[in-house]
Amino acid sequence: MGSSEYHPLHIFFFPFLAHGHIIPAIDMAKLFVEKGVKATIITTPLNAHFISNAIGKAKTNDENGIHIQTIAFPSAQVGLSHGCENVDSIPSLDLFKPFILGTRLLQEPFEQLLLDQRPHCIVADMFFPWTTDSAAKFGIPRLVFHGTSFFSLCVMTCLELYDDVSSDSDSFVVPNFPGEIKITRMQAGSFLKSNDITGVYKLVEEARESELRSYGVVVNSFYELEKVYADHYRKVHGRKAWHVGPLSLCNRNSQEKANRGKEASIDEHECLKWLDTKKPDSVVYVCFGSIAKLCDSQLRAIAMGLEASGQDFIWVVRKNKQDGGEEWVPDGFEKRMEGKGLIIRGWAPQLLILEHEAIGAYVTHCGWNSTLEAVTAGVPMVTWPIAAEQFFNEKLVVEVLQIGVPVGSKKRVGFQGDSIAWDAVEKAVKRVMKREEATQMRIKAKAFSQLANRAMQEGGSSYTDFNDLIQELRSMGH
Ligand code: UDP
Repeated sequence: MGSSEYHPLHIFFFPFLAHGHIIPAIDMAKLFVEKGVKATIITTPLNAHFISNAIGKAKTNDENGIHIQTIAFPSAQVGLSHGCENVDSIPSLDLFKPFILGTRLLQEPFEQLLLDQRPHCIVADMFFPWTTDSAAKFGIPRLVFHGTSFFSLCVMTCLELYDDVSSDSDSFVVPNFPGEIKITRMQAGSFLKSNDITGVYKLVEEARESELRSYGVVVNSFYELEKVYADHYRKVHGRKAWHVGPLSLCNRNSQEKANRGKEASIDEHECLKWLDTKKPDSVVYVCFGSIAKLCDSQLRAIAMGLEASGQDFIWVVRKNKQDGGEEWVPDGFEKRMEGKGLIIRGWAPQLLILEHEAIGAYVTHCGWNSTLEAVTAGVPMVTWPIAAEQFFNEKLVVEVLQIGVPVGSKKRVGFQGDSIAWDAVEKAVKRVMKREEATQMRIKAKAFSQLANRAMQEGGSSYTDFNDLIQELRSMGH
């Protein structure tokens, strides 16, 4: 191992500029730091604020701590307004393209940082395919982080170059995939070449190509959850991959759990006190992640569906009262729901909520972080995918793991979401909370939660894979 043992490994983490990518990257950096690695997270000034909040104590002046390096985001150069540095601040999806263009312009300052600091390895997001070239210039390995499941990674890889789809709504079996998983062209979105209206497929293609040339892939998942797909990804698709999750488990105290992402719009103690008054498994948690902004008619349908279900709930609505109209709120809804429903406008301390014993189900958009956080907490789901690879994660939850009930989302609706009727919401919530199958799902979900926790403990599958990864990086002679 030569001198490597005496010099700490230094790793650059470069997450995509979206909370769903930054949050797990911070968690991963924390995990590395616990093993004596120096971690530097590269980001833009506005995102640095969220990161320094979240790393709290882990940020030290020690050599081996989490450091943050900022590079300016060239908003003006790509026609975006000042402050547009995170996907959650893009006013419309039409601006995703210039946003991606902006991220490409980060290559030069990023390489300057590589030159100045000479890290031993880069863990960079799939959305930054050019980082494989940057790493190659400096003779260091680049690991890819997608932030999704093995299952979805396999679906995406299997859809590569597959173009034999004639209709939008007829389902087809994902080719060369273990088991019979059916999706439609509408659900496959930009992962199908023929669907490439927005130009996102080009990025997906570049990401795939750069992944093949990279050193390997780190996956926020655990082996026991998706063995078949972890094996398929490695053995059939030939990827060198390490499973290191659930990464959220590296947040051990409530302060760390409360400080992820944006500042919570509710005092976490107040929120937990409210939950303390409820019976175990009696409350439905509803949240669509960090990006989706549902339109008024959809918000109204959720309100009506939740009320009709008769269940207590915590509902995170990303639209603030000052954002304009409250027309979506059914007449007298908030008054009737007093004590029964807690609406959080803005950002919720999600990990703390999901872990509370009062939470009985989670209505989720199937973003991978949220999905895995629910699995880790042992909470069954109502699945409501709306964009990205969320339709694939839904298949894993509903058909493979059998710990979720689909609300019936049939097509991608960007980040707006408007297609589900209120009675479908009512029905799915009742199914996941009350019916006989709810008990079975809860038992299964709790079993996965135990496996998730075990995976991260000493000797567990993720613990071991993570150690192997560190060993391998250390033995590379840097
Ligand atoms: N999150 C949170 N509070 C919120 C909304 C989201 O803490 O009010 C966190 C959530 O716990 C998860 C991440 O933000 O870690 C969202 O990531 P995900 O992959 O689920 O969805 P995305 O935001 O990327 O669509």
